[in-house]
Amino acid sequence: MTHAATLTLQGLSKSYGRVRALQPVCLDVPPGEFLVLLGPSGSGKSTLLNLIAGFDMPTTGTIALGTRDITRLPARKRNFGMVFQSYALFPHMSVADNVAYGLKVRGVGRGETAARVSGVLQSVRLETLARRRVHQLSGGQRQRVALARALVIDPSVVLMDEPLGALDRALRKELQMELRRLHRQHGRTTLFVTHDQREALALADRIVVMRDGAIEQAGSADDLYHAPRTPFVAGFIGDSNRLRGRCQWTVPGAGQGAGRARIAIDAVGGAVTAKVVGRAAVDAPMTVFLRPEQIRVSAAGEGAAGVKATVRERVFLGDLVGLRVETAGGQDLWVRGAASALAVTAEEVALSFDEQALIAFPNHEETDGHADDT
Ligand code: ADP
Repeated sequence: MTHAATLTLQGLSKSYGRVRALQPVCLDVPPGEFLVLLGPSGSGKSTLLNLIAGFDMPTTGTIALGTRDITRLPARKRNFGMVFQSYALFPHMSVADNVAYGLKVRGVGRGETAARVSGVLQSVRLETLARRRVHQLSGGQRQRVALARALVIDPSVVLMDEPLGALDRALRKELQMELRRLHRQHGRTTLFVTHDQREALALADRIVVMRDGAIEQAGSADDLYHAPRTPFVAGFIGDSNRLRGRCQWTVPGAGQGAGRARIAIDAVGGAVTAKVVGRAAVDAPMTVFLRPEQIRVSAAGEGAAGVKATVRERVFLGDLVGLRVETAGGQDLWVRGAASALAVTAEEVALSFDEQALIAFPNHEETDGHADDT
């Protein structure tokens, strides 16, 4: 099987009895892409990955690698590398023997096996631990062994299901960097499942956001962050404040959903102009997503413009500062920015918004279950 092949899913779905675990999904993964499947628990990520791996057969649809239909090909013949959250290693075998195992079952000769194992252990920086037994390793080291084992078979696609889920935060960050480095080095098409949006943003060339067994939106981190197409994506990627408002007037856009609207928001005692995704009618209830870094804060003085608010909490995040403020209208907002930009010591402040970046959705489009959490 060639490495430089696009993985193509067409109408791929899975039902377990009456449970629709995966709605029909269409997706192209170009060769070398690092694709992250991101979604809350139960959104169908593992189901999709297991179908691609060949551990489970789809109810409908096809999977192709390049021009070859592999929908019914048994898992062991797909030559895909797998990494799971539980390492699935042989604890009493050495690091090198664990990594060599996949080559042994494929009948690769001794000399070539030794060379390939040594090469891949070097690339995951475990060459000095080759003779160590796996049960003597730390969690992070074990996951490197699992990675080495997935890569040594020269896979056409690497599939990873929450591989860093069992590791602590510092180790996760370290291994994320390591995964990016390895991906740059070996350039394999990689599908990585996680429910952690920060991890997805850190790793992905492209993110597929899943929800209720369907693809909600696929795009680069930048796309999803700045141009979410649904309230679910706007709320799931990055932090946001949600403001409830009412549409005063709209200007339809040229393309689909590219209009703007003036939206009155009682909680901030004024109106904002925001980009609207979907169809907004005058007087329709709206939700405006306001990112913490889009709020500017100045000391409230005589004649200071902006929304009056009181600082309730200050959180130091290293070079950034987080503020929780309460507007005069009783709305809690999170503000985040460079310590120098949020250096106000006053408790009474005035807020202004970077309106260019505001995104609003008509409430009838909102079905993400968070409608009442502001
Ligand atoms: P995720 O990986 O996003 O947490 P899953 O793919 O594991 O989600 O599950 C998607 C949905 O399919 C869930 O509602 C889950 O309960 C259901 N599901 C998954 N596997 C099975 C199965 N073997 N039998 C019945 N339902 C299943």
